[in-house]
Amino acid sequence: MSRKPSILIVEDESGIADTLQYVLATDGFAPVWASTAEEAIRLFAAEPPALAVLDVGLPDLNGFELFRRLQALPGGSQVPMLFLTARSDEIDRVVGLELGADDYIAKPFSPRELVARVRTILRRSARPVVSATPAPVPPVNAPVVWLLDEERHQIRFYGKSLELSRYEYGVLRLLVQRPGRVFTRDELLLQVWGDDNDSFDRTVDAHIKTLRAKLKAVAPTLEPIRTLRGTGYALNEELPAAPA
Ligand code: CA
Repeated sequence: MSRKPSILIVEDESGIADTLQYVLATDGFAPVWASTAEEAIRLFAAEPPALAVLDVGLPDLNGFELFRRLQALPGGSQVPMLFLTARSDEIDRVVGLELGADDYIAKPFSPRELVARVRTILRRSARPVVSATPAPVPPVNAPVVWLLDEERHQIRFYGKSLELSRYEYGVLRLLVQRPGRVFTRDELLLQVWGDDNDSFDRTVDAHIKTLRAKLKAVAPTLEPIRTLRGTGYALNEELPAAPA
């Protein structure tokens, strides 16, 4: 029998935490509750959970900052995380997704809905990324510009290792494997996020934006990812052998 997936709940309101623990336990998960960011970091460092639910408004640390710290812990970047926010604010949502969070839920929310989202996220993160067609051998000059290390989930750009979130890696991996091929937002959503309908086109755009910023830090004058207006994104095949 396999172990129940542990879900770390970081929430300072005990009423909400109690409800979440109850519904998650009823649904076959092993919930672990931390009421402060400090406690969450300690529990997470001792054993990374299968998924973490982070309240944005915590007494000792902002949930976004906690997310960054958890991601930096060993194994942290592999753990899907979902934000709970009191404000149904667009800003919170965009900040959360740009940081690389897997989803967010605005309070008040239905505990059942949260459990359904947790299931969806765990299902899609368990599924390997499947390309519609096998990746062709990259062009001879590709390794100079791009180096894809699938075992380490790392991509090097002009020799520089990129610090990528799980989804940024998933998107860039697809683009790098098929230079010049145009991927529509729907294709990227399907292949990187999975075929649940909780995600939306702006999720893709937000991740492309953060990816571009990271690539720009390496090669400020180049545009490695092309936008095909109204269509999608493609890797620029015309990159020079060395950054300008
Ligand atoms: Ca709170």
